[in-house]
Amino acid sequence: MSIYATPLSTMEQQACDWLEQQQTEMEARLWQLANINSGSYNLDGLAQVAETLAGWAKPLNCEISYIDLQPQTMVNTKGQIAAQPLGQALKLRQRPQAPLQVFLCAHMDTVFALDHPFQQVRQLDAEHINGPGVADLKGGIMVMLYALQALEASPLAESIGWTVLFNPDEEIGSPGSAHLFPQLAQDHHLGLIYEPCFADGNLAGERKGSGNFSAISHGKAAHAGRQHHLGRNAIRAMADFVRAIDQLNGQRDGVTINAGIIQGGDATNVVPDTCVMKFNIRTQQPSDELWCQQQLQSIMADINQADGISIELHGHFGRTPKVMTPAWQQLCELLQTCSQSLQMSIDFVATGGCCDGNNLAAAGLPNIDTLGVQGGNIHSDQEYMRLASLSERAKLSALLLLRLATAGPEIWLEGK
Ligand SMILES: [Zn+2]
Repeated sequence: MSIYATPLSTMEQQACDWLEQQQTEMEARLWQLANINSGSYNLDGLAQVAETLAGWAKPLNCEISYIDLQPQTMVNTKGQIAAQPLGQALKLRQRPQAPLQVFLCAHMDTVFALDHPFQQVRQLDAEHINGPGVADLKGGIMVMLYALQALEASPLAESIGWTVLFNPDEEIGSPGSAHLFPQLAQDHHLGLIYEPCFADGNLAGERKGSGNFSAISHGKAAHAGRQHHLGRNAIRAMADFVRAIDQLNGQRDGVTINAGIIQGGDATNVVPDTCVMKFNIRTQQPSDELWCQQQLQSIMADINQADGISIELHGHFGRTPKVMTPAWQQLCELLQTCSQSLQMSIDFVATGGCCDGNNLAAAGLPNIDTLGVQGGNIHSDQEYMRLASLSERAKLSALLLLRLATAGPEIWLEGK
């Protein structure tokens, strides 16, 4: 690994110098991109983002295509199953025959819907901007596109092929795009994902897993005054269920359960016959999933014993915990040597949050998932990013790509 700790070569220095000069253009484009609303269900906005990115990808001289995604299946507040259409994914492909294949991923969606008050970018101070998605992760899209341009300008590019996936549904758990990852994992040696790094500049290491579930309780409606005894109260049944799942907290290391949304009933004088409750589970180890499933089944079986009451469960674990592997460790070490050459210092820190990096790791692809910009307060209207991190992180990615191209695929083949 010692060759990676060397100072920048002439070629690497040229790539970094070029990226430094792109800072102003990157800022301007980020501003433009973040001012387009692309909430996960705003299909028009997502299409506009995809079209903008396809235009900016032209200098990469790669193959550009769009992928239709299946609608998301959702449980609505009435407990009915509904299909929610999703946006298209955008894919870029370059040199599929090259010996080393790298997969790069960035999501186009944000958590801010079209009717959310937070819609515009503004300057916070000389060094920071505040805006929807400026850190998570439209800044990362800039970092990735410019790092790839720096790679393409180098003769080393010939030995490295890549695929970029811009997906439109990461913020809702990638329900439509997750099925693309197993194949992508198979076709590539390693993955680079452009979620923002932490505010202090460190990157995410191990990540918890996550599952989103909807429980629907069914009872029997009746007049609350005249025939209360004939009713079977679905809200009461759900209250029992919530209490029981909440008591699972603390029973298994690293597993947390959060009841997040509840809805049921129409009027105070009617025994409610339906109640819907949505909850999230975080896991630490892949084996936690089975434990949780067993607990949920046993709680449901208990509640379903009551006369006239039934609870059904929808949903699944969309993200498996991301746990360290030797190949991933090696990739992290390579990135750290790159950062040292750039006089940056980065560390990898475990987090309870999860992202597409979980899915890629589950599919067997070693990946670093926080190569995007430095920022904070994401998923809130206080979201900010540090402007200088655009070119800083683009240099880091470009250097990583150039050194991967130099090293070749052998070590990654062993690792996988
Ligand atoms: Zn994100």
